[in-house]
Amino acid sequence: MSSARGDSEILIAGAGIAGLATALALARSGHGVTLLEKRSGVSQDGAGIQIGPNGSRILQSLGVTAKLQGKIAQPSAIRVMDGVSGRNLTRLPLGETIERRHGAPYWVLHRADLHEALLTCVETHPNVTICYDADVVAARSDDAGVTVGLSSGETIEAALLVGADGLWSTVRTRVMGAAPLVFTGKSAFRALLPAAAAPPSISLSDTTIWLRPQAHVVHYPVRGGDELAIVAIFDDQALGETWAGDADKTAITARTRHVASPLRDLLQQPDRWRQWSLYTPASAVTWTSGRIVLIGDAAHPPLPFLAQGGVMALEDAVILAALLQNASPAQLPERLQRFEAIRRPRTTRVMQASARNGQIYHQDGWKRRARDAVLAATPPHILMQRYDWLYGWTAAGELHRAGVIDL
Ligand SMILES: Cc1cc2nc3c(=O)[nH]c(=O)nc-3n(C[C@H](O)[C@H](O)[C@H](O)COP(=O)(O)OP(=O)(O)OC[C@H]3O[C@@H](n4cnc5c(N)ncnc54)[C@H](O)[C@@H]3O)c2cc1C
Repeated sequence: MSSARGDSEILIAGAGIAGLATALALARSGHGVTLLEKRSGVSQDGAGIQIGPNGSRILQSLGVTAKLQGKIAQPSAIRVMDGVSGRNLTRLPLGETIERRHGAPYWVLHRADLHEALLTCVETHPNVTICYDADVVAARSDDAGVTVGLSSGETIEAALLVGADGLWSTVRTRVMGAAPLVFTGKSAFRALLPAAAAPPSISLSDTTIWLRPQAHVVHYPVRGGDELAIVAIFDDQALGETWAGDADKTAITARTRHVASPLRDLLQQPDRWRQWSLYTPASAVTWTSGRIVLIGDAAHPPLPFLAQGGVMALEDAVILAALLQNASPAQLPERLQRFEAIRRPRTTRVMQASARNGQIYHQDGWKRRARDAVLAATPPHILMQRYDWLYGWTAAGELHRAGVIDL
């Protein structure tokens, strides 16, 4: 495995949402791309994903939508419920309302379906090569290009390396020297349930969020409505640290005894739960070093309380591809720095807003009562307008604001 140094070949470490979308965006603008994935195939643990209009717009522009036919559901609202009393706190319009406002839909789907759709587009593009069992362990950048080392002992030379290797990024830690992540004390549990097995009072069409002190639960339809994806997140150090491991079902049932009965009935249904303990960077991470750049969770992993980590990876993909268009090999380091300068403010804002949502969702006592009063008193369309900065994002707008007109 090797390629000539200084040519236009781009290496991407990691074939998750960030790596696949970036490979596709770069290939479509004429670059030769090699994706290095450490697993033996592209797979995604069984779970759902919500894609706001800022993400669906990108999937549409990359030509991925046709591959998602029949796999997507479009919830008509986000229903916010009190997880203890079962009271409806507010109902935020999605469906046609959000699509009209932002010019793109709000989708919910199974992660495996999103990965498969991206992978099909990438595999059928003549400019992309995918190498599995390719575990990136080292990288060096110099004036002529990058040299990337694999755990097999092989080395590869190319024009640049994109580190899209996720939350536990080797490129971030070994190459950029970033500090280890810190456990937040919060853990997410995820399960999938056939829609037919859900209790009758559970919505099968909307995204529903149940709020309870120190915890919340989200569920929404996936597989075109055939299944329900469920995520339960608890503030609880005692749950320990596990990443994508099988969870003991009793850990959830023991923590949801005092919740509204429809929610308790729902949480008792799935046979299999998996746990993701939630981590955050100890300090800001540098994303660029010469001809090496981090994107997606490797660069800016948000907590999942805004459902935007995967969407930020899609945004990174199209902005990076736009900035690398027509770049000569000598211009690459400067283009990567521009990428970091453009993307950092937005991804920082998303990380901060996600963390803040987590606090608001899990509030107790007077803060909880104040939150519920605000939700009850504020018209839903006003609550949704607070997210215009998030869902109304376009690549053209971001590049224009950054003064990028001369590429
Ligand atoms: C509970 C929970 C719910 C979430 N819900 C949402 C949501 O609704 N909407 C949303 O947009 N986001 C959501 N997210 C966030 C989203 O899952 C992530 O932000 C997204 O998956 C990041 O994609 P990525 O490609 O950067 O990383 P990953 O998906 O982690 O992909 C990294 C890839 O790199 C590979 N890799 C790792 N190391 C190496 C190496 N050394 N060499 C080669 N390959 C390597 C891995 O095998 C993997 O394939 C959620 C996250 C959690 C935890």
